Amino acid sequence: MRVLALAPHPDDEVLGCGGALALAAARGEDARVLVVFDGALGDPLGRFERATYVARRRAEALAAGAALGLAPGAYRFWALPEGHAPADAELLAGARRLAALVDELRPDVVYAPWIGEGRRDHATVARAARLALELAAFTGQAWGYEVATPLTPARTLDVGAVWERKLAALRAHETQLAYRDLAGAATRSAAPRARGLAGGSGRAEAFVPLGRPDEADARLLGARGSPAPLAAHRPVDEDLASAGARTAARARRVRGPRTP
Ligand SMILES: [Zn+2]
Repeated sequence: MRVLALAPHPDDEVLGCGGALALAAARGEDARVLVVFDGALGDPLGRFERATYVARRRAEALAAGAALGLAPGAYRFWALPEGHAPADAELLAGARRLAALVDELRPDVVYAPWIGEGRRDHATVARAARLALELAAFTGQAWGYEVATPLTPARTLDVGAVWERKLAALRAHETQLAYRDLAGAATRSAAPRARGLAGGSGRAEAFVPLGRPDEADARLLGARGSPAPLAAHRPVDEDLASAGARTAARARRVRGPRTP
């Protein structure tokens, strides 16, 4: 299996799906991360050296990836300027670039922020990811993860076996720890997420299907917009005992498998 996580900023992938990535790596799967934005606005009080700040956050992300057990070279950084609403052309260009990455890496599973994330950069990556998977005619699983805005889980994954790895990865983000207790925030959200899991560890991550572009965004695809529906997200994991997965399975039975 190949896994690709899209992170708006360094640390979002750890908070949102770090456990899922660590579990994939522990199973010997190819787990990759793309960090889309540069993270330059993560130090509003100017506590760190400005000239080296972006490079420092990149180094923190790499250290976090190592803590999760990801292979050296698992991370890519696009370092796009963060913190603004993208123009349509910019969003579409980003989606095309993401689609090319999906074509190159051929992931079976993609993680991205879920569409309801309240932070602008997070929602931007969610929209771009939806467009990109449409452009790439992606037929694998695409899951939205939560960072800033809680979602209603369609899939809950017990990450107790790799919880210490996730905490170690969060501790690698020193520049962010100066502002926020990342480990505390992760721990507080992990326990309620685990509540529905019988015999679970008390530590879980929660996901919803990433979904397809909304109508306005789909219009950006113009003639290239795929007339065929994006294949339903295949529920293949053992941990998919959720309503969302059942819905996807039903949809798959109705539509049948998509031929490449
Ligand atoms: Zn973020």
